[in-house]
This record gives sequence, structure tokens and C-alpha cells, in this order.
Amino acid sequence: MNILIIRQLIILLLWTLLLAIPNQSFAALPVAKSIDYLFPISPDLTLDEIQARMDWQPSQDGWIKEHYSQNSFWLGETPKVAWLKIDPTKWTTNDNNPYLIELASSGLSRAKLYFYLDGRWQILDSEALLRDAQDSNAALELYRSRFITFEVNEKWRTMPLYLRVSSPAKFHLQVNIVDKNTLVAEKLKTEAFFFFCYGILFVMIFYNLIIGRYLQDKLYYIYSVVILSTLIYQFFAHGHGKLFGYLDWDQVNHLLNFLAMVSAWTALIFLYYFLNFKTYMPRLAKYFGISLVVFGLMTFLTLFLPTNAGINIALVFAGPAPLLVMSVALWSWYRGSRLAGIYVFAWSFYILGGLLWGLYWLGIVPLSNLVEFPLVAGAALESILLSLALGLRIQFIKQHSKILTKSEKYYKEISALDPMTGLANRRAFDEKMAALINEGAILNLVLLDIDLFKSYNDSYGHLAGDKVIKKLSIILQEAVREEDMAARIGGEEFALILRNEKIETARNIAERIRLLFSQTPFYFSGQNIHCTVSIGIATLEPGESAIDIIERADKALYRAKDKGRNQTQMSVKVIAS
Ligand code: GH3
Ligand code: MG
Ligand code: MG
Repeated sequence: MNILIIRQLIILLLWTLLLAIPNQSFAALPVAKSIDYLFPISPDLTLDEIQARMDWQPSQDGWIKEHYSQNSFWLGETPKVAWLKIDPTKWTTNDNNPYLIELASSGLSRAKLYFYLDGRWQILDSEALLRDAQDSNAALELYRSRFITFEVNEKWRTMPLYLRVSSPAKFHLQVNIVDKNTLVAEKLKTEAFFFFCYGILFVMIFYNLIIGRYLQDKLYYIYSVVILSTLIYQFFAHGHGKLFGYLDWDQVNHLLNFLAMVSAWTALIFLYYFLNFKTYMPRLAKYFGISLVVFGLMTFLTLFLPTNAGINIALVFAGPAPLLVMSVALWSWYRGSRLAGIYVFAWSFYILGGLLWGLYWLGIVPLSNLVEFPLVAGAALESILLSLALGLRIQFIKQHSKILTKSEKYYKEISALDPMTGLANRRAFDEKMAALINEGAILNLVLLDIDLFKSYNDSYGHLAGDKVIKKLSIILQEAVREEDMAARIGGEEFALILRNEKIETARNIAERIRLLFSQTPFYFSGQNIHCTVSIGIATLEPGESAIDIIERADKALYRAKDKGRNQTQMSVKVIAS
């Protein structure tokens, strides 16, 4: 994706976040002193018994939270019930606008509103309303909210309404009483923001699937599962599942714990491969791998345990997971991984969102845009940044392997060269001979040895001797073709491997070299000096080994030395008669 588009997207996301957060719908209408509550309370009490109760607690701002000190905190599955007494006569309004009671808690399963009309208590049931909403278009407009919402008829406003709220697991409750028109207008902005973020997540799932298929890289698939589980979790955790009409919210809340675990689990698996633990942090990789298995088991356990237990497992495992991820990423960033740096950056937004959402989830603060938006925006932002980082990762891997092959080539090359002359060295010569003999090539071997070299060294010094060696090397290098080889195989001993030549041609080449070298003047200690070289040549015979042909060429060379030096001798294979 174009980096400019990304930047625009991120800026747009952050701006809308800034603009959207201050829209806090629960402040729409003063509800002071109009709500009293009993919570938690036995689920068996009837309306009559409730009306007789004297221990109502006043709620200042509609924020009602559960006290966590109950015995059933860990595994208990006792239904959680709250009763609310809402007195519309205390509402600071005298208009006839329609008003809504909005139960701004996505985790809420069910609510019943009792109102007194026509001389008797009547009931509105949220489940029945949601079921009806699926068949009736008129009802849709009102009840397709992500929260349970009741419209309060003008005629019911003369005496208290009673509201019974229940969920199989723990929940917190934010009761908003709002002007219907205000709520609808605000809702539009809020929902636009949510669906913008959901849209990004949705697109990034497909982006990763397509690229993963194209590059045959499983990490892209893993990441699309991370995004998918995050998207589904957030969609339901923010209550948007209710927009689809009736769902069994007890079931949904149960599955949400599983989804939160899947999301954290796959994020950890992704981290494991993304930062390549096995290679870069092998010791940590072992423990991390074991934790991943345990995490996976706990994830599936949430499916079979009661909802409350699922919440607690998610609290203990998925809760600290982002911090674990962050510390590992920070650590490997510190150790020099550029990818980890991007990872830290991408996660920091999401983690901030998670922390704010956690404050609501733990019942510390009421639901508001401030705790809702950063989570979904952080997820969207993370999905863009990490998808990009996946691309960078492949680039890094490619660069790394390019550097490796380059240096590998370099070391291979220098290990085959003689440092002083730049000719092939003894090792390269031996390898080449073996390879050529192996493939049955036609070749002539020319061995050269500088004559009486020891005396030059003794008379003019070692440096002068080096100069002679270098000069001969240049002559040899220029005499051979691409497929041939000139090698320095000893101190002042050289070899030419000449391919596809008749022995006469090899001899001509050798003679040319010998003459050229002997005519090359060296200026040492104020005198012009000439050096000479003796040469032995052998042609590879069928069935011969490298040692055989070298031995024959060497014998020819010694013959040249014996016969007075500065000449070329050929080896003739003695064929046994
Ligand atoms: P011959 O004609 O029989 O080959 O006589 P020679 O003196 O060349 O034979 P010998 O093998 O006895 O001596 C070779 C000398 O080459 C010995 C050594 O000092 C010299 N030499 C070997 N490598 C180098 C080198 O890299 N630089 C210099 N300056 N001298 C070298
Ligand atoms: Mg020698
Ligand atoms: Mg010599």
C-alpha cells in the first residue's frame, strides 16, 4: 500500500478519535436523584417484594457497579440481578419529547421495564422487543441500538418505573436517560466512528489473506486470524451484535471470553514468528512455546467453563498478554531488532485502548467514548501498521540473505587467490585439476620455475625477488584465456592449465612467455638484470590422475633445468609395450 495513503488514514483516524471522544451521551440529561437501585439482589424477588424494600441506594449519575467481594467471584454462576427505581417526575424537563432509558452496558443479557398504566403494572421485555424487532420495521428504528433501550411513554411519567436487569455473569451498568432526538443524532456520529474502524479491520483481514497467498507466507495468515478475532470480539464487546436483531446474549457473553482469549493467543503466536524467537532468542523461545500451549488450552477451556470463570481466565491470561507482548518487543527492540521497534509503535496505541477499556471492564469507570474508542481505533491502527511491518520483514530477510551471499562469495573468492600476485593459489589449482580430470577434459599442464632465484634474493634482497615474481605473474595472467588458469603453486613456481589445446600450441604459448620474461629488464642496485624461467609441459593422458600429470610435467621441468635452464621441455608418456 502507498505510504501516503497510510499516513492520511492514520491522521484521519486520530483526528476522528480526538473529535469523537468528548461526545459523552450519558451526560445528555440530568438524571440526578431520579434513580435508586438494589444491586446485587436475589433473582427470585417479585415486583411486590421489591416495592416494599426500604434499602434502595441512590445513584447520582446512573453509574451502578457490582461489588466484587462476592463468593461467586471465581466460578460462581449465580444469576446477577439489579433492580432500578426510576422516577420520571424528578427529570428536569417539562417538554413532551420522547425519552429513552438506555442501558449502556454491552454485556447485559436482559432487562424488563415495569410501568403502571390503566390501573395495573405492565411489562416491557427486552428479549421480546428484540424478537419483535426482527419482524417489525417500525420497531427496528428504535430498538436497533447496540444497547438495550426503552422508550418512555408520556403517560407513564407520573409514577416510578421499575427496571429489572439480569445477566448470568458480572456486569456494570450505565443508565442513560436521554432525549430521543439527541440520542439518535449522537448515535450516528458514534456508530460512524465504530464502523470506520471495523471497516479498516475488515479490509486488513483480506489484505493479509491475499498477500499471504501471493507470498506463500503463513505469518500473513496468522495475522489475519489475529485481526478477525479482534474484529469479532470488539463487534460484540461494544454491543453491535444487537444490531442484527435477537441474539442469545447469555451465549454471546460466554463466547466473548473465548474470543478475547483467541485474540490474545493468536497475537502471541504472531509475535513468536514475527520476531523470529527461535533464531534470535532461542532460550526464551522454549519457555514462550510452552506458555503458548498452556494459553491455547486455557482458551478452549473458556468454552466449557461457566461464563464467570471464563471472564476470570480472560482476566488472568488475556489481560496481561499485551504487557507481555510489549515487554518482549521492547526487549528485542533494545537488542537491535528494527522490526520490534515498529511492533512496539503499533502496539502502544492498542495497549492504551486496552488499558482504558480494562478500566470499564473491571468496573472502575462507567462506559463512555473515552474508554470505548481508543480500543477500536488502536486495533485498526495496529492492523495497518503491522500489516505493513510484515512487508518490511520480508524486505529485511531478503536484504540479510543478499548480504550473506555477497560475503559468502567474497570469502570464497579470496580463499582461492594468492594474496601477493592475485593468481589462483595452490588450493584453487588442485580443485580445478581434480574437477577437469573428473569431467574428462582435454588439457595441457605447464609448470614454470624461476631460474636460480635464490641468488637474486641473496644479491638484491627479498623485495627485489618479489618484484620478479609479480612481473612473471602479470605475464602469465595475460597469456591465458577465460577457461584456462594461471596459478602460483609455490614460492617461485607457477602452473598454467591450458584447455583444448594441442601440445604444440601449449609449447608455443610457453615459449612466448619464456622469451618475454627473459627480455624483461629489472633495475636492481644500479644494474639492469634479466631473469629466466624453466618450463615443463605434459598433456593429460586418458586414465591419468592429477598427481601423475604433475609428476610428468615436473620431470620435464627438471630436464629443462638439467639441460641448462631458460628452456621448455615436454613430457612424453612412456607407453608400456
Ligand atoms: P633453480 O634454478 O634450481 O630453481 O634454483 P632456485 O634458486 O630458483 O631454486 P631454489 O628452489 O633452491 O630456490 C627458490 C628460492 O625462491 C628460495 C626462496 O628464497 C625464493 N622464494 C620463494 N618464494 C619467494 C617469495 O615469495 N619472494 C621472494 N623474494 N623469494 C621467494
Ligand atoms: Mg623452485
Ligand atoms: Mg627456481
